Amino acid sequence: MDQLPGVAEQRLIDTHAHQPTAEFLEDAGGEMMKDAARKFGTDLETWGYEEMRAEYADAGIGRAVLLGWDAETNTGNPPVPNDYVADVRDEYPDFFIGFGSVDPLKDDCVEEAIRCVEDLDLSGFKFQQIAQGFDPSAPEYEDLWTTIEDLGVPVVFHGGNSTLGACSAGGRGLKVKHGNPLLIDDVAAEHPDLDILIAHPAFPWEAEQLAICQQKGNVYMDLSGWLPKYIDEQVLQYAGSVLSDKVMFGTDYPMIHPDEWLESFAAHTDYDEATQRRLLFENAAEFFGL
Ligand SMILES: [Zn+2]
Repeated sequence: MDQLPGVAEQRLIDTHAHQPTAEFLEDAGGEMMKDAARKFGTDLETWGYEEMRAEYADAGIGRAVLLGWDAETNTGNPPVPNDYVADVRDEYPDFFIGFGSVDPLKDDCVEEAIRCVEDLDLSGFKFQQIAQGFDPSAPEYEDLWTTIEDLGVPVVFHGGNSTLGACSAGGRGLKVKHGNPLLIDDVAAEHPDLDILIAHPAFPWEAEQLAICQQKGNVYMDLSGWLPKYIDEQVLQYAGSVLSDKVMFGTDYPMIHPDEWLESFAAHTDYDEATQRRLLFENAAEFFGL
């Protein structure tokens, strides 16, 4: 894969990685994760961080954002605790960037957000609005967004449909509408100092997502969760032109492995080297302040 820039120097940055361990895949994931695995023909094998680290090194990736997960109120599944994310980050401080997660439906979510940054030194927050079962534009979450804006750290919001609960009756109660990026646009408009990364091409709302990233200086997106060969043509076109300073590489590990994503990127896109550098690491280095 040494045809891609930055690989030899291990400069690539994965903006979106989950734990390849039971904490995420089994405990937090529960039945909805088994549905997704069945649908996509993967097994829910688990492995450790040494193997993950080696796999990333082979792919030329020097940093990865490791995401917390707390959708306990809506799903009934236990969280991937923020203390655990911080512990893993502390074991690999030059590799992982730790992002916390707070459950917006819990009464103590604002206090927990403050603890994540001030006590655990986590670098931002991840929200998965479909699993967490909330509409980010609703007024009851204003305090949370204001708090995070004041803390001065970025947030990652899920964008688009989710594979969690795929094909089960009622999708296990999860509502796709909560993944609509237009709900994030409201948050971005009211919190101009909050940097927002919309994770994944936001199928079936990619056009809305592109419009928001163009119109809002504080909104960015990543290409995680989809192999490049399946990403909407318009997204790839914008990533190579008007949004080439806004789009970032991400995998959604362990569902997608870095080598398969990068192989698909090399085979199915024809960006010039400067664009590849922006998408694979320069935009992320700037966004995460590395
Ligand atoms: Zn993810």
